Amino acid sequence: MIFILIGGVVVLISVLVGVFLFVVKRNNHKLKSTSNHATNLANDLKSERERSEIIVNAIDDGVMLIDKDRVIRLFNPGAATITGWPSEEATSIDYRSVLRFINEKGEEMPLDQNAVEKGIVNVTPFRDNEANIVSRSGKAIPLSISVSPLTGRNGQSEGAVAIFRDVTNERNEEKQRAEFISTASHEMRTPVAAIEGYLALALNDKVAKVDSKAREYLEKAHSSTQHLGSLFQDLLTAAKTEDGRLTSHPTAVEMGQLLQEIVEGLRFSAEKKNMIVEYVIGSSGTTTTNATAGQRVIRPLYFVHVDPERLREVITNLFDNAIKYSDQGKISVGLTGDEKVVQFRIADQGQGIPSEDVPHLFQKFYRVDSTATRTIGGTGLGLFICRKIIELYGGKIWVESQLGKGSTFFINLPRLSTAQANSVLAQSSGPSISLPTRT
Ligand code: ADP
Repeated sequence: MIFILIGGVVVLISVLVGVFLFVVKRNNHKLKSTSNHATNLANDLKSERERSEIIVNAIDDGVMLIDKDRVIRLFNPGAATITGWPSEEATSIDYRSVLRFINEKGEEMPLDQNAVEKGIVNVTPFRDNEANIVSRSGKAIPLSISVSPLTGRNGQSEGAVAIFRDVTNERNEEKQRAEFISTASHEMRTPVAAIEGYLALALNDKVAKVDSKAREYLEKAHSSTQHLGSLFQDLLTAAKTEDGRLTSHPTAVEMGQLLQEIVEGLRFSAEKKNMIVEYVIGSSGTTTTNATAGQRVIRPLYFVHVDPERLREVITNLFDNAIKYSDQGKISVGLTGDEKVVQFRIADQGQGIPSEDVPHLFQKFYRVDSTATRTIGGTGLGLFICRKIIELYGGKIWVESQLGKGSTFFINLPRLSTAQANSVLAQSSGPSISLPTRT
């Protein structure tokens, strides 16, 4: 009996030892395979990282990664070549010590106004093709930079990636091109003006006698010469807006008065095409009447700081386009504003602009290519010049359009208070502003 008991115990112990060994072996295997897995993963990650590093290091453009504290975490050799800062030195310092942005006059820009800050603060990608920085050795470098902000799960800023390129050659070529256009159009404008003058004399009954057939030809030649003259003028203005030679004498201008005066002058050309011109001041569209100190002010005053002649060019261009690209209907000119902004708009009921063309409309030489526009003459320079002029005064121009129904061009300009306007005029020793009294 005792032998049977001992035998049973031995069998039980053997079974338990067997189970224990099996479990240990199995766990060992599991542990081994987990650690193999981790090693593979680490290797994968390492090679992935190496691959990314190889790619980032091979890019000629500068690539910079900054964290939410503006500290550089990655600075590739391309960035080092452009800025003159070795990657090891640039990494872990504030990017603003490395990318020192300057304006076109060579003055350091306020820290919060550079492209990187705009991308981070607005949490939207930002591109600036006209940026400039100072290299470590103090040389000005023209840059094209594009900034992509990085955000955390809750949308908070986690830093940004900036990719930038030295565009010295492109800017030089652009400058040479602009200089050539500017010289050529300047030289050609003079003989064209002479031809236009002689044609005008030939058409003047008091100084020349021509028969009706010759008059018809001369009139056509005269209008083509005028067109050529304005084309050269546009080319010259466009070149000047780009190289900063556009003359501008800004002063305090009351938009309501200027707009009304310009629109009155242009009304005739709209009426020639049987188009009606409507002029609305104020957001309600109706005139307001205030009685103050014996003066009757019938509307708010919208002061802006611009060169009135430059603004005249813009408004005339938009108005001419409204006539040119419409067959009929109404041209509505409106003026509104709030404390900070003066907004004016020119709306037509013409052919409208296809939505895919809208983003390109203010680029140089851009014209909508459609059967309707192909028959209408133009250079595609007008809206480019308008944008450049409006931007010169810190403003913004854009269009909203519906194909076949019409287009509205909007312009926003920073508003001056009456006190600011008076002070601007006093500084330029002009007369102080008296509120217009109209009935
Ligand atoms: P241009 O009129 O000399 O071609 P612009 O720069 O003034 O040059 O205008 C660019 C293009 O925008 C025009 O060719 C035209 O296709 C379109 N456009 C401008 N204004 C209007 C408008 N009011 N209605 C429809 N299309 C317009």
